[in-house]
Amino acid sequence: MGLLTNRYAVVTGAASARGLGKATARLFAEHGATVAILDLDAEAAVDGAADLGPDHVGLACNVTDKAACNTAVAELEGRWGRIDVLVNNAGITQPLKIMEIEPGNYDAVLDVNLRGTLYMSQAVIPGMRARKSGSIVNLSSVSAQRGGGIFGGPHYSAAKAGVLGLTKAMARELAPDNVRVNAICPGFIATDITGGRLTPEMLETIVADIPMGRAGEASDVAGCALFLASNLAAYCTGTEVDVNGGALI
Ligand code: NAD
Repeated sequence: MGLLTNRYAVVTGAASARGLGKATARLFAEHGATVAILDLDAEAAVDGAADLGPDHVGLACNVTDKAACNTAVAELEGRWGRIDVLVNNAGITQPLKIMEIEPGNYDAVLDVNLRGTLYMSQAVIPGMRARKSGSIVNLSSVSAQRGGGIFGGPHYSAAKAGVLGLTKAMARELAPDNVRVNAICPGFIATDITGGRLTPEMLETIVADIPMGRAGEASDVAGCALFLASNLAAYCTGTEVDVNGGALI
């Protein structure tokens, strides 16, 4: 029996083929969940859901748009009757240094990573509270814990640090209703967000700083999301779990 049998799960930003969201959606489906992939592009979301097998759902949803988040959640709750798990995975990075950040850059990065996490959570919380059951998993980053790195930029670090604060505050407020909220802090994981922009020398430098001596795989993060989403983590809330090959040791 799968760890998420008879569960209904929503994963945002899960259309990207090599992404953490897609790997998480796939693992959830393998463990018996019915999954909705929400992403910017409707076709990519529908195709991504079809890849998982029948019954899974793909919907267009820009997580920076509160009305769109509410509409997507209402549609899924109408179809399924409930949402058990939300993974706030949609995110963007911009490889800028502190003095290069313009107001529009700041808005864009905070909007997707932080505001999107709030809006999607606000959309699912009433149903979870009413049923006294739910798990929300937020994607933060090692960038929140140790500063930028070459991809994110300081505004990305700020947004992901905000995700940690939001996670803990939501966890505290929702704990009496048995709605758990946890964060994952991935280190360097090979996906579209990190791939394609690296020279072999850059990759060597990054990996040299990781005690386990390799980049992470999307499946490494998906496994952690599965644990936090499932009853195995029934007494875990407000935690941040590092999936970084020992990068903070
Ligand atoms: P990715 O670029 O492969 O996928 C991100 C997805 O988010 C894409 O499918 C994109 O279309 C979607 N998206 C972007 N803006 C959106 C919006 N407004 N509404 C809905 N969807 C939107 O990224 P990834 O590497 O899989 O990263 C997934 C999450 O993990 C992100 O939150 C990222 O910040 C975080 N993270 C990644 C790494 C890494 O090394 N890859 C490390 C730490 C944290």
